[in-house]
Amino acid sequence: MSIPTALIGIAMLSCLMGVTVLGSLFRAQIPGIHRWCWATGLLVVTATLLLFRRMDIVVVSASVLLIVASLMALQGFRQFFHQRPSTTWEYVAIGPILAAIVYWTYVSPDVDARGALISGYLAYIRFVIAWIVQRHRPAGRPKYGYHFVSAAAILGALVHAVRCVIYGFGLAHETVFLEPTPINVAFLGVATMTLPALSVGMVMLAHDRLAERMERLATIDDLTGVLGRRAFIAQSEALFDVAKVTRSKLSIAILDIDNFKSINDRYGHAAGDKALAQVASTISSGIRQTDVVGRIGGEEFALLLPLTGKEDAARLTNRLRAIVAESVSRAPNGDVTCTLSAGIDEFGASDTVASVMARADTALYAAKASGRNCVMLAGASHSRWAEPTETGAAR
Ligand code: GH3
Ligand code: MG
Ligand code: MG
Repeated sequence: MSIPTALIGIAMLSCLMGVTVLGSLFRAQIPGIHRWCWATGLLVVTATLLLFRRMDIVVVSASVLLIVASLMALQGFRQFFHQRPSTTWEYVAIGPILAAIVYWTYVSPDVDARGALISGYLAYIRFVIAWIVQRHRPAGRPKYGYHFVSAAAILGALVHAVRCVIYGFGLAHETVFLEPTPINVAFLGVATMTLPALSVGMVMLAHDRLAERMERLATIDDLTGVLGRRAFIAQSEALFDVAKVTRSKLSIAILDIDNFKSINDRYGHAAGDKALAQVASTISSGIRQTDVVGRIGGEEFALLLPLTGKEDAARLTNRLRAIVAESVSRAPNGDVTCTLSAGIDEFGASDTVASVMARADTALYAAKASGRNCVMLAGASHSRWAEPTETGAAR
């Protein structure tokens, strides 16, 4: 068995494994996975054809399949990143490429020109894959899988680009297709390695998308898009640890929508949901980048304010309260306005997250008792907090 035949056999088996693994992820409904699976399946067919026959019709068919499979893989990557799958010229280019392959096979046989053309197209596809993956790599996700795919694609692109130049400029010569010359074996060897690497990379990306979904489900509240209770408490503990080490201030605010039950009763549960989401989004867009917001109960939110003492936390929360009171959420039977009451306290060195939350909660109850739509500091629970006047007095 010649070395090229052995390499094609290896490519066929590795692509077959790629199809099986990608196929197992079909039901996960990850964008692009169908095209990746089809592309890898077409590569299996291509390699199988070349394993058994090398007559002209088989070579032409395998070349076409290879081009279509590569384009489908690229489309899969675009879909994965929610881009339009293809540009028009990529489809249009297939026509002349096909004509040239037929011409250099039947009319004026030229193995070098045909090889240079196919490699040029494959180099383009792989460069674009590497570029797309780097450009759209999601922030905040582990980078390894994305870099792995790019590296495999770049390696494949370089091999094909060099092959295209060498055969295109007549620097090497092949008389029959897949002749076992040293240069051909080197090209085929590296190109063969990049195929399973790309399939493994596709699986890595698909798994990262699944992991992202699961993490999101576990941490983000569906309705409001802010952290859920468990994730908020975990963040509080982490930030409290940092504050203890750096001896910096950290405050917490607990905010509860006033009389929300009557909003539900008056406008309906769906309008209540919409108002809840609107309050969450108003709070999220009104806080600093370092602040953390979570939904810790039905109509109850909490804010973590790093590097902030309780007076400043009260000022910031009061500003949010005023913005929420001004904003309106539209419902079929009228405009819904919500107000918030809030309780605030600062973490002390001997605190736990639970103890400081309990004090902020007591302050929140005091805010409710003193008429709602106000902010109350823990330990000062007999009077509402208000912006200091110009003379510096606070109520
Ligand atoms: P208070 O000012 O004392 O906080 O009064 P309240 O009516 O806001 O408080 P209460 O605890 O009596 O009622 C909370 C209401 O919030 C009742 C519940 O149906 C509603 N609620 C909790 N979660 C959701 C939700 O996800 N969607 C909607 N629409 N309503 C919710
Ligand atoms: Mg309430
Ligand atoms: Mg409540």
